[in-house]
Amino acid sequence: MEAKQSMSQSEFLRRRLSRNCNLVLNVLDETQKLMSAQEIYLWLKDREGEDGPGLTTIYRAIDMLIGHELLQSVNFGDGEKRFERIEPGEHHHHLICVRCRTSVRLESCFVDQLEQRVRQIHDFVIHSHIFEIYGMCQNCLTEANLD
Ligand SMILES: [Zn+2]
Ligand SMILES: [Zn+2]
Repeated sequence: MEAKQSMSQSEFLRRRLSRNCNLVLNVLDETQKLMSAQEIYLWLKDREGEDGPGLTTIYRAIDMLIGHELLQSVNFGDGEKRFERIEPGEHHHHLICVRCRTSVRLESCFVDQLEQRVRQIHDFVIHSHIFEIYGMCQNCLTEANLD
């Protein structure tokens, strides 16, 4: 039998989170997708019926989870933020298709080097950065060419 890994930081945090926060995390873990608050709400309503949390409660849980660095907000450029599961200290960047709104997570952060330069040139202390790339995915390019 394999040795069990020690409890991750997020696992530890989860035990102290409210039921609603855990519900939101469970949805994202289960779907493995980036979802908006509205999508999470509808998914839970489908699953839990009238016992599911309301939209305001979901927003509150999301704020809490972002504060704990268990969620990252991603701007899809369409006015509706999507949320992605992360581990504390992590952050991701994405390629976002403006036609079908699919996203691909980039494997690494390309902004770190830029940050070093900015720090040197501008003597500026950087706390965080947001960096997404918008364009068209292969599927949409093919379909757009067929139109
Ligand atoms: Zn697309
Ligand atoms: Zn980055």
